[in-house]
Amino acid sequence: CGIVGIIGNPDAKEILLKGLEKLEYRGYDSAGIALSNEAGVKVFKEKGRIADLRSIVDETVTAEIGIGHTRWATHGVPSRLNAHPHKSASNRFTIVHNGVIENYDLLKKEYLADVEMKSDTDTEVVIQLIEHFVESGKDVKAAFVQTLKMLKGSYAFALLDEQNKDVIYVAKNKSPLLVGLGEDFNVVASDAMAMLQVTDQYVELVDKEIVLVSKDKVVIETLDGEVISREAYTAELDA
Ligand code: GLU
Repeated sequence: CGIVGIIGNPDAKEILLKGLEKLEYRGYDSAGIALSNEAGVKVFKEKGRIADLRSIVDETVTAEIGIGHTRWATHGVPSRLNAHPHKSASNRFTIVHNGVIENYDLLKKEYLADVEMKSDTDTEVVIQLIEHFVESGKDVKAAFVQTLKMLKGSYAFALLDEQNKDVIYVAKNKSPLLVGLGEDFNVVASDAMAMLQVTDQYVELVDKEIVLVSKDKVVIETLDGEVISREAYTAELDA
């Protein structure tokens, strides 16, 4: 399973699909992408191979921002409905996740009793929780941080907000995730191999940080708001 994301690149759709193909070796049962443009955030997802996903992606959609996912189901059967990306109830937020949220059921019962779930995944609880905290008055970053602090388990996340097209929110814990630096665009990926097609400059992420990836900057903070500076390294393709 794996994650890719990109912001600030007019070829986002094709780069995401190629990136997911590079991650196929990790194993998966379904795949999806979300593309963000003036019309909103459009999700395409399908059970099966990346080739199956490709066949349902609208050829006419263009976007400079997007996230993609290959799923290895842990909660909820492999199906189109349970495939990622997942949207919040209002459709404002879109997320992809690799890993397992161990306390999802508890969080669902405590905070989301009124929310009608669209899937059987542990992941959907996370996106509904973020929206719940935004609706109770927090800004998106604070809502994401509050949610991250409550989660038990493993995760790599990439999150889109339909109302703010300048950033992809990213975080990890015990699942791999990197940020890649391009010229006038940036990317995220589980494995540099997925995005070597567009850049060889990568920044490692550490567990329990929140990272705001824009097209021209990457801001890394601890969950307590301390700004971290970290140099990029050059990734090389193993021969
Ligand atoms: N636990 C999540 C699910 O079952 C993510 C699985 C994955 O890592 O792909 O949907």
